[in-house]
Amino acid sequence: MNVTPKIAIDSRALKREIDNRGVTAVAKDLKTLWYKTKDAVNYKWDNCEIKVSNIFGECFAVQFHVENGEGSVSMWNENGQVSLDSYKIRNDKFLDYARMVEIMENWTRGIVPCSKCGRPFKYHERENRTMFAGVFCEECWENGMRKEAGSWTND
Ligand SMILES: [Zn+2]
Repeated sequence: MNVTPKIAIDSRALKREIDNRGVTAVAKDLKTLWYKTKDAVNYKWDNCEIKVSNIFGECFAVQFHVENGEGSVSMWNENGQVSLDSYKIRNDKFLDYARMVEIMENWTRGIVPCSKCGRPFKYHERENRTMFAGVFCEECWENGMRKEAGSWTND
């Protein structure tokens, strides 16, 4: 029987783990737990299903980037279709944690950060201002992103 497994860590637990043990160890452990889960159900695809959940239990896709103890976590909505910015982490401290929590709460209320300038706007008012998982405010769209997106779609 084919099922898609995922693992989710509560955002507060993630912060606590990173503050206590550093992002390198936490990212490694999450990956290990993911592979154990994946193997347990014989999941054959390569995509990684590590999620962070907020206080409402809503899940967000995340990807850790770590180099020499410095890093960041990129976040998307659960199915990975909408980019929700990335957040700085120093080895011993989740620097952008408060902003990440705010963006998660905003998403629950239908508000996304512009993928270029970060300004929040209503996701349902995005019209066609998207490129890959990026979504853009009207200003950024008219000042460059429309052209950039066009050069991708016109190829
Ligand atoms: Zn913008």
